[in-house]
Amino acid sequence: MNIILLGPPGAGKGTQARKLVEERGMVQLSTGDMLREARSSGTEMGQRVAQVMDRGELVTDEIVIGLIAEKLAQGATGGFIFDGFPRTLAQADALGALLAEMGQKLDAVIEMRVDDAALVARITGRFTCGDCGEVYHDQTRPTKVEGVCDSCGSSNLKRRADDNEESLRQRLMEYYKKTSPLIGYYYAKGNLHVVDGLGEIPAVSGDIKAALDNA
Ligand code: ADP
Ligand code: ADP
Ligand code: ZN
Repeated sequence: MNIILLGPPGAGKGTQARKLVEERGMVQLSTGDMLREARSSGTEMGQRVAQVMDRGELVTDEIVIGLIAEKLAQGATGGFIFDGFPRTLAQADALGALLAEMGQKLDAVIEMRVDDAALVARITGRFTCGDCGEVYHDQTRPTKVEGVCDSCGSSNLKRRADDNEESLRQRLMEYYKKTSPLIGYYYAKGNLHVVDGLGEIPAVSGDIKAALDNA
């Protein structure tokens, strides 16, 4: 099964994708994670995207489609979860074409709906484990022991440079302008499932499971 988690920054896409990986053996493809990896590797492409990401703008379609195509070529027996991709209509068309070339299809698009006020709190309290990628929040999902990752025991906990209110405003603008048209695009294709992203993490997981069982 191949699915997209669609929603604004902070909606909980990464959190839910990790659960699906654990429970269903799917492969998570997060273009945000791939781009952060590229920038920390210091390649020329990495340096170019770093500035764009820090401004809260979208990286070019060409770059992210290239990253996704590379990962798709590696295959996934449990299917792919697209997290933070596609973000433009051009990316959505490219994904459809890449899957068709592989003889595969998209099984469901889960729109995670969260209002803007909640997103500010989500983004400004977010931190992640630099070693295993686990996602935490100061208030809603703190580590059991302060400064130590619950899943891997690492103390390499990090905050993203772009997780501040000013960058979030820009990212939200990009979301409404360029990404939200995908809701209509996938609705028209009959793939869209809407989930309330405001509930607690296990409740949202339950709603996603129900949507996938119906897909
Ligand atoms: P969030 O989890 O807050 O939604 P991401 O980690 O998905 O953020 O993305 C961080 C940044 O990486 C974005 O603000 C954007 O600059 C860039 N980015 C990630 N995915 C894409 C994409 N599919 N297309 C263009 N830019 C992207
Ligand atoms: P996205 O990948 O969509 O940007 P994340 O999964 O990184 O979102 O979640 C953003 C922040 O909100 C993280 O700090 C995460 O721990 C927290 N979070 C995720 N889902 C929920 C939820 N249902 N309720 C409260 N906090 C949540
Ligand atoms: Zn960890």
